[in-house]
Amino acid sequence: TDIQELLLSRIRDVADYPEPGVMFKDITPLLADPQAFTALTDTLSQLAVRNGATKIVGLEARGFILGAPVAVRAGVGFIPVRKAGKLPGATLSQAYDLEYGSAEIEVHAEDLAAGDRVMVIDDVLATGGTAEASLQLVRRAGADVAGVAVLMELGFLGGRARLEPALGGAPLDALLQV
Ligand code: IMP
Repeated sequence: TDIQELLLSRIRDVADYPEPGVMFKDITPLLADPQAFTALTDTLSQLAVRNGATKIVGLEARGFILGAPVAVRAGVGFIPVRKAGKLPGATLSQAYDLEYGSAEIEVHAEDLAAGDRVMVIDDVLATGGTAEASLQLVRRAGADVAGVAVLMELGFLGGRARLEPALGGAPLDALLQV
């Protein structure tokens, strides 16, 4: 579609970042273009409304940039999921495996509860580890998963398959496929 072409044209490929052999998808040109950024947040907020989301979870850090305007546009609250050690209140935390080593993310325990329908938003779905851990946090808090939406899915990394059990039938929407 025209929107997909616009979005794709505003994503920059950076070779060998953050390490040799990786082609990094840089969304900063898209954020700097008001037409593209508006099209992106409008599309994501339509998905949030369609999925019946009552809360948006954004994954640090680019999921904050995308998730916050989507939450405002959809008329629902925004909840940050952060890397361990950044949130001041009582948290739930979830560890997950990386290619080398592991990572941990957290959410304020009081921000999610039974009855919430949560849509998780991020810029890029790669291996799916981060999104999977965020869905585990959502479920441990007693909330329901309304879906996951990302700007771009790196299909060759298999994130969609990894995410499937945690989605429990909820949709994974990617506006662009690589
Ligand atoms: P995953 O856990 O392997 O799916 O990695 C996803 C996380 O890493 C997301 O929070 C992304 O923001 C980030 N990420 C991975 N690859 C890229 C990329 O090429 N561009 C931007 N972010 C990326």
